[in-house]
Amino acid sequence: MECNFTYRHYKETISLGKKLGFSFYCMHDFLKEKPKNKFIVMRHDVDLSLKHALAMAKAEHSLGIRSTYFIRTKGPFNPFERKNIGIVRQISKLGHEIGIHYELGSAPMNSFKKIFLNNKKKLERLLGKKIFGAALHKTKNLHDKKLKKLNIAEGLLNEFGLEYDAYSDIFIKKMRYISDSAYRWREGCMCSHIKKESRLCILTHPIWWSNKTSSLVSIIEELL
Ligand SMILES: [Zn+2]
Ligand SMILES: [Zn+2]
Repeated sequence: MECNFTYRHYKETISLGKKLGFSFYCMHDFLKEKPKNKFIVMRHDVDLSLKHALAMAKAEHSLGIRSTYFIRTKGPFNPFERKNIGIVRQISKLGHEIGIHYELGSAPMNSFKKIFLNNKKKLERLLGKKIFGAALHKTKNLHDKKLKKLNIAEGLLNEFGLEYDAYSDIFIKKMRYISDSAYRWREGCMCSHIKKESRLCILTHPIWWSNKTSSLVSIIEELL
């Protein structure tokens, strides 16, 4: 098994996890079912391309697993455009959970909340499903003063109509959390963690896993 960013390696890693007895969860199902051990919570941040997210969603579906796709509501694509919401719907229909990938921006807190709630309501209406969770884009902002005040991860979930934040302790501190941020597994490929851990949360960015885009990594990073 060679470690690289290809759908092939992604799929063989999931198959390895299944063989080792892991159950796979989207974030909402994990909170509902509360498994104790041998679980993997799968999460994806969709930063740049819905098309790549759909390819990953299909790959996961073919292996019988469900995960959470956090869709950017503001960025290089508009998820509310007819063609784009069609793709988000397809991902959702494959059984995956849809969440919101939000940015703080420079808007004052009141308007941030209003915009967030508007986007959430719109997405719920277009999908015909409830949104349970959100994940912040660009986590270095996790220490941003405004975020601390906002504190989605710790409190205020009710105010935002959410059940969880993807950066809550439960997903980051109470299980092993690894991420492929910036096209790199800082602590080793996810397949190596599956061999040694029993409680995992894995964040991947679908854009890195396509042969077509992996050669464009530096250009993509500029856009983020
Ligand atoms: Zn690997
Ligand atoms: Zn992001």
